[in-house]
Amino acid sequence: MQTSIIGYPRIGHSRQLKFQTEKYFRQEITEDELQATAKEIRHSQWQQQAKSGLDFIPSNDFSFYDLLLDTAVSFNIVPRRYQDLALSELDTYFAQARGYQGDKGDVKALAMKKWFNTNYHYMVPEIEDDTPIKLANSQALDYYLEAKQLGIETKPVIIGPFTLLKKLRYQGKKTASDFAPDLVHAYGQLLEQLDQAGVQWVQVDEPDLVYDLEAADQAFFLDIYQDLLKYKGQVKILLQTYFGDVRDIYPRLIELDLDGVGLDFVEGRKSLELVQSYGFPSDKWLFAGLINGKNIWANHYQETLAILQELATDVNHLVLSSSCSLLHVPYRLEAEDQLPPQYKAHFAFAEEKLKELAELKAIFKETDNSQSLYQSNQDLFSQDRPDAKDPAVQKRTQAITQELFTRQPALKERVTAQRASLNLPLLPTTTIGSFPQTRDVKKNRADYKKGRIDQDQYIAFNQEQIKAYIKLQEEIGLDVLVHGEFERNDMVEYFGEQLNGYLFTQYAWVQSYGTRCVKPPIIWGDVSRPHAMTVEWSTYAQKQTNHFVKGMLTGPVTILNWSFPREDISIKESTYQIALAIRDEVLDLEANGIQIIQIDEAALREKLPLRQSDWYSQYLDWAIPAFRLVHSGVQASTQIHTHMCYSEFTDIIPAIDNMDADVITFEASRSKLEILDALKENNFQTQVGPGVYDIHSPRVPSVEEIKATIYKILDKVAIEKVWINPDCGLKTRHVEETVASLKHLVQAREEVYHENQGTIQG
Ligand code: GLN
Ligand code: ZN
Repeated sequence: MQTSIIGYPRIGHSRQLKFQTEKYFRQEITEDELQATAKEIRHSQWQQQAKSGLDFIPSNDFSFYDLLLDTAVSFNIVPRRYQDLALSELDTYFAQARGYQGDKGDVKALAMKKWFNTNYHYMVPEIEDDTPIKLANSQALDYYLEAKQLGIETKPVIIGPFTLLKKLRYQGKKTASDFAPDLVHAYGQLLEQLDQAGVQWVQVDEPDLVYDLEAADQAFFLDIYQDLLKYKGQVKILLQTYFGDVRDIYPRLIELDLDGVGLDFVEGRKSLELVQSYGFPSDKWLFAGLINGKNIWANHYQETLAILQELATDVNHLVLSSSCSLLHVPYRLEAEDQLPPQYKAHFAFAEEKLKELAELKAIFKETDNSQSLYQSNQDLFSQDRPDAKDPAVQKRTQAITQELFTRQPALKERVTAQRASLNLPLLPTTTIGSFPQTRDVKKNRADYKKGRIDQDQYIAFNQEQIKAYIKLQEEIGLDVLVHGEFERNDMVEYFGEQLNGYLFTQYAWVQSYGTRCVKPPIIWGDVSRPHAMTVEWSTYAQKQTNHFVKGMLTGPVTILNWSFPREDISIKESTYQIALAIRDEVLDLEANGIQIIQIDEAALREKLPLRQSDWYSQYLDWAIPAFRLVHSGVQASTQIHTHMCYSEFTDIIPAIDNMDADVITFEASRSKLEILDALKENNFQTQVGPGVYDIHSPRVPSVEEIKATIYKILDKVAIEKVWINPDCGLKTRHVEETVASLKHLVQAREEVYHENQGTIQG
């Protein structure tokens, strides 16, 4: 048995690439300096992987921004507007990734989307009808040769033509099948190029195979590969999949003239069953993804070995692999000197996963020290993790009754009760929660954390800030106010830090997109709330004004989705624990006089299973109830809001309505309000605040623009149900543009209101 990984992080263990790239963007370093850092990262990682004993070392998994963008560029798929800037190759690349504004022109970036069910974002490449597809660079070959010079044989990694064609945005009349022949030819040239250089294995990633595949998709995929594999020559082709199983195509996939097939046994619920029921060709290599590439827990060798043994009965050439690229986990545990060793022992980041691969290989082959390696892993899993279990929490979760999932009375009656209790005007205006996180705001938090100021000073600063922003919101003329979230570094971390059951790392960064990294907290054990988390801030804000101040919370599904989850209990159970903790906070806010409470589920849509056939049974059937659990205990007169980033929920509208919130605000301005038709068609019950302007840009929208948007909304949604608000929180914006934009928002609403007064019924 041999070992492989699908890919490795590339940002550098100390985020060197991020910092250097940002310097390059600010024109503080040259391209050569940036390239030197990149090279250093590649070299040290290859050497480390080689040293660990890894058999299949990936190359071309490095990227300055995103691999799909790299793939598109290498096949000459670069929209004309970027080419026309006549920038250097690297700058043309960065212009696509982040837009360009300068002497050469003004173009926006390509769209960015979530990569499958991860928190990583890819750039959506665009293709124009007259784009000539061809092999445009030798990046894969160059990196292969670069490693070869170090004496390291690597397996170049490329994203495959099927996945690329599926992810491309077609700008003209042509579609995927029109481009397929040229693209296959270009991929073929790449294979020939690699073959001639003596490459032994190429890994071709086709993660799109893990979706539900219609017959037409299957045929399309098979056609592409029948053609492509004619080019392969001596080089061996590993067709790599991840993020699920390939149940729709497996029997035909293994019949293709491939040399290896990579399957995910972590998220692929049916992978083992597929191999066992259809078998696996004796001349091919199976790359078995058993080391979780997405989560940070140590591997349980006993379980992994059991599956390997089972596979070994059907498979001649077995390779133990990661389940997906290690891009989705942090670099190394070593740096985490604040984590006690008895906790650390339970984790494996990328470097530790390399070690796990080596150890499992040794154990599988029964080499000398394998027994002791196995034993210490057994020991780790035989003991309870310190402080992970809380019987009170488990008891409470088990005692959840059906009634707790249903808020009484039903929405209709609540509307009446809330009209009486809140007495808000028609088309009420509000914001999504955060106000600009200025340098001072961040400094105050950092100073407090580092002990440079005491708690009183910290609180006093934030209270001043709240006071000023309440006054500002009153001056602007908003109806429902917010305290501004100045105490929060991040909408998940803030709650995680206060809840029991969470662990935090110092350096465990994971790339989110480009130079942006996140440091997800770890759910270590049973989650509970030791004390109120937001009540002080919210009530302080409420005391400053006669307007209603919204309480601001993050919902359980989002908290879970943006953390590293446990593997010893189900995600559903973890989420319910979090839901109960947030429920207590909701009730506390209500008891302290907060009558409008927003529970953000920014990331709810994000973890929708890849296969539509799994949407409800694997996810929505517990995720939606988890949200209901949070708010079902409040009075009819208390108004529950929720907020979701992205309005990509057209196809799950009934589930969103079923969250049974009173009001939902969501991002809509960038998606051209397409969601509105779907709301209308589905007779959506919840009141809605589709964002009327894009907060991701510093641009100040004009009154006319906002009015036009409001009218589009009123075209599709009854005026009694409409809220007026921006797309999302304002934390990343500057104060000036925020104030200007909100003033325009209020004025636009004012004008629309007066223009419609005659038509509004009671
Ligand atoms: N309440 C949060 C804020 O305004 C919501 C952020 C989000 O949806 N991502 O910042
Ligand atoms: Zn948002």
